[in-house]
Amino acid sequence: MARRRLVYEGKAKILYEGPEPGTLVQHFKDDATAFNAQKKDVIDGKGVLNNRISEHVMTALTAIGVPNHFIRRLNMREQLIRACEIVPLEVIVRNVAAGSLSKRLGIEEGTPLPRPIVEFCLKDDALGDPLVTEEHIIAFGWASQADIDDIISLALRINDFLSGMFFGVGIKLVDFKIECGRIYDGDFQRIIVADEISPDSCRLWDVKTGQKLDKDVFRRDLGSLANAYSEVARRLGIMPEVSNGKRPGPKLVH
Ligand code: C5P
Repeated sequence: MARRRLVYEGKAKILYEGPEPGTLVQHFKDDATAFNAQKKDVIDGKGVLNNRISEHVMTALTAIGVPNHFIRRLNMREQLIRACEIVPLEVIVRNVAAGSLSKRLGIEEGTPLPRPIVEFCLKDDALGDPLVTEEHIIAFGWASQADIDDIISLALRINDFLSGMFFGVGIKLVDFKIECGRIYDGDFQRIIVADEISPDSCRLWDVKTGQKLDKDVFRRDLGSLANAYSEVARRLGIMPEVSNGKRPGPKLVH
């Protein structure tokens, strides 16, 4: 048996060469890291949950016409994706003040924002992923103005869609991060959503209790991360919760 060629290993995922040109296999690890990998642990089952949740989200995005890298899930920890040229930015959309925004601007966590706010951070671990402006992005050539326009409209569309999807299962989408990539079709270039969308990259709060169901559980030592992610999967109807072999649909919370 031949060993697969490893293309890239990150903190939570590994990319392998895919079976066809232009494809990659994205493998979800159980490793959890926070604060630029200063806090680390291995959480049993996290990779499996994120693989399933990201599949669910990306499939839903495809259904509403938001282009993304997901092709199909291969197994419990792996999915086949389209290879793309990653734009070196983390694109964050916020609906409610939390995390670094609250810290930076002194706005109390939980304060609803008057409108969704889009932020860009440069993907650079050595620099701690610093916040950058459109001016920086264009001046240093990380993306063009046309790319930025496409990225913002994708990010806001995803925000509207996911806010509704999560609200339907009793979860508030506080904020999230996406990464984008470029794919080339002959003379044309297109921006697509890449990486993952999972509780590792979103803040998800229970609508009624405010309970955190995302990576802040790990960052802030608030209990079992696997239980929090399982709850998200259960509410989205991804995790079977009955023994009759039928997978339940999304659980609506009134
Ligand atoms: O830490 P901060 O408040 O800037 O994070 C905003 C959102 O982006 C959170 O949902 C967080 O999980 C996500 N994020 C991420 N990867 C990073 C930084 C932030 O997924 N490197």
